[in-house]
Amino acid sequence: MAGGLAVRIAHLYPDLMNLYGDRGNVIAIYRRCQWHGLAPELLRITLDEKVDFRDFDILFVGGGQDKEQKQICMDFTKVKGAALSDAVEDGVVLLAICGGYQLLGKYYRTGTGEEIPGIGLLDAWTEAGRKRLIGNVVISSDLVRVGSDHTVVGFENHSGKTFLGKGLRPLGRVLLGFGNNGEDGMEGAVYRNCIGTYLHGSLLPKNPALTDYLIGASLRRRYGEAQLKPLDDTIESIAHEAAIHRARQPVGR
Ligand code: GLN
Repeated sequence: MAGGLAVRIAHLYPDLMNLYGDRGNVIAIYRRCQWHGLAPELLRITLDEKVDFRDFDILFVGGGQDKEQKQICMDFTKVKGAALSDAVEDGVVLLAICGGYQLLGKYYRTGTGEEIPGIGLLDAWTEAGRKRLIGNVVISSDLVRVGSDHTVVGFENHSGKTFLGKGLRPLGRVLLGFGNNGEDGMEGAVYRNCIGTYLHGSLLPKNPALTDYLIGASLRRRYGEAQLKPLDDTIESIAHEAAIHRARQPVGR
């Protein structure tokens, strides 16, 4: 890969949407770009800032509780929604976690019956369930492969149960944990280069193959072919395996 190519990263609502180490995803993208010899640039974007997201390569929005979701929803739908949808249609990479993921869908109905509107980019909707879905998660996703391993690991904590419309594919199948709703065995959603998922953790430091998938997709959009050289992922692999081991432990251990 030709060195020094710019990768423009936007971190949305870093001050409001950031749970269980979500910020670590942005750090992982940034650092892996550097390790691949690329030139990442990071911009933080919060309430009231209107930008053309097509100028970026990778967008990120983290999770937030209902309170933060309510705080951003007007801005997310009215100020940023159309620009975000345009960018995703244009192939920009977007990763959204939990509360951010829920607001990419049509709506999130909270436990008190209040409906928080989403931007409708994903054909998905979320209804609060009676119990929180908490714990370590392992899924199998076709987007990643290390040898014959397709696992992605993370940590979930949500009461919202997300359901996907017929044409929308999940990020993966749940092997351990709850995923989108604890019922249909699906976790997350993928539309073009947009991934929504319940996996906090941070997600990307423990799943380097997924990080490189996102970086690769962004490079292909802006520069054409992208061949990322493998990095030494010894430490990341240990973290990945440890997360799988932890997810297999009985709850409470
Ligand atoms: N408020 C949402 C829920 O509990 C999202 C929580 C989160 O982002 N962790 O379903």
